[in-house]
Amino acid sequence: MGNELFKEMCAYVDTKQDFITKTRQDFHKYAEGGWHEVRTCSIIADHLVKLGYTNLIMGKDAFKADARMGLPDQEELDYVYNRALEQGAVKEYAPLFKDGFTGIIAVLETGKPGPVIGFRQDIDGLGVVECQDPAEHRPAREGFASINEGEMQACGHDAHATIGMTVADVLMKYKDKLCGTVKLVFQPAEEGVRGARGIAESGHLDDVDFMFGVHMGTRPEGQDVDIAFHNATNMANCKMDVYLEGKACHAASPENGNNAMLAMAAIVQGVYGIPRASVGDARINVGQVFAGSGRNVVCDRVKMVMELRGLNQPALDYLEPYARRIIEHAAAMHGCTSRIVLMGSTPSILIDTPELVDEIKAMADKLGFKTMGPDHGDTSEDYSYMAKRVIEHGGKSCYFSCLTETPAAFHAVKFDVQEKDLPNAIKLECAICLHLMGILEE
Ligand SMILES: [Zn+2]
Ligand SMILES: [Zn+2]
Repeated sequence: MGNELFKEMCAYVDTKQDFITKTRQDFHKYAEGGWHEVRTCSIIADHLVKLGYTNLIMGKDAFKADARMGLPDQEELDYVYNRALEQGAVKEYAPLFKDGFTGIIAVLETGKPGPVIGFRQDIDGLGVVECQDPAEHRPAREGFASINEGEMQACGHDAHATIGMTVADVLMKYKDKLCGTVKLVFQPAEEGVRGARGIAESGHLDDVDFMFGVHMGTRPEGQDVDIAFHNATNMANCKMDVYLEGKACHAASPENGNNAMLAMAAIVQGVYGIPRASVGDARINVGQVFAGSGRNVVCDRVKMVMELRGLNQPALDYLEPYARRIIEHAAAMHGCTSRIVLMGSTPSILIDTPELVDEIKAMADKLGFKTMGPDHGDTSEDYSYMAKRVIEHGGKSCYFSCLTETPAAFHAVKFDVQEKDLPNAIKLECAICLHLMGILEE
């Protein structure tokens, strides 16, 4: 019965290609960056309600509010909310996702005993100005390039949202034949590693036995593969904004002020000069500084945008307090004060339990999926918060990629994915459910 059911599910997925293409292209056109995803969430919510989902954890209920990171200011949140309404957000649900609560956990309860299975799909775009040249870029040619300038689905999260919505459809259709519980997580603000922690710390995933992270990936040239499994170690990552405050005065008598520009310069030189350590490889970048008000004014205000990465946790644990000391003391040296705001972070962990990865890959191979891996990649992915939480509570985690042709690199202005490849991930998620529920004949 199990394999027959799987075949039926696959046939059903094949009837959904139009929905898949349309939905992915719609999310692509109305790209919403991290914590902006009001329109996206309202459409997902509407879809889930129409499918018959009654246990939907949405908006504020899906987060531990103060564990969200890197939220835009209120003005920006208000702007994107109104924009979402103008761009066709479903009015009934949009208010739920106001003010940076753009996430949903859809819970499918079969009413029969069985495992709790979770799937994470991130839904946000990122700060990229999409190529609008029809000759160079399929989304521009076919009329679904982003109309929100400076926000683009350049990492395939439009595809992830679509995968989750379609899996929700299939599982609901065959609900009576399933057992246990499935939790489909639609996560905001993965870019900048800001969104997952708030959902993980909400506790809604604490009962998950098997958690899966899914991402689009590039199909290696000339290889006939659809799914790549990973044993991925997440880079430890910390993004901070630094605010310096001094005292302005006339440049002719600088002794009357406290020059925040000098503090900024000392910090830039200082953090790049942190000695290399034997504990692990690390990176540091001061990417932006905003400072000063005029040629003849001693600068009193600075904003610095920076990030630190460690290829392992000890490397970041060495770097971060060192950088904080430099910021604090370089500011004090010039009579200024400093304030550090954490904008995003991820711990360095292996984001999967290798035995589950092996088990799922073996199952997928048997069913005829074209797979590769597991490889041992380094990623930067805040799914690590969910994996960590689930593993700490005795669950297991697996991370895999849905492979497609990408005409440009991830995060590039001409990035695109092929909608025809999404059913592979949808079918695999269905197979995973049947396998872990013990109803797949193997
Ligand atoms: Zn990305
Ligand atoms: Zn991504």
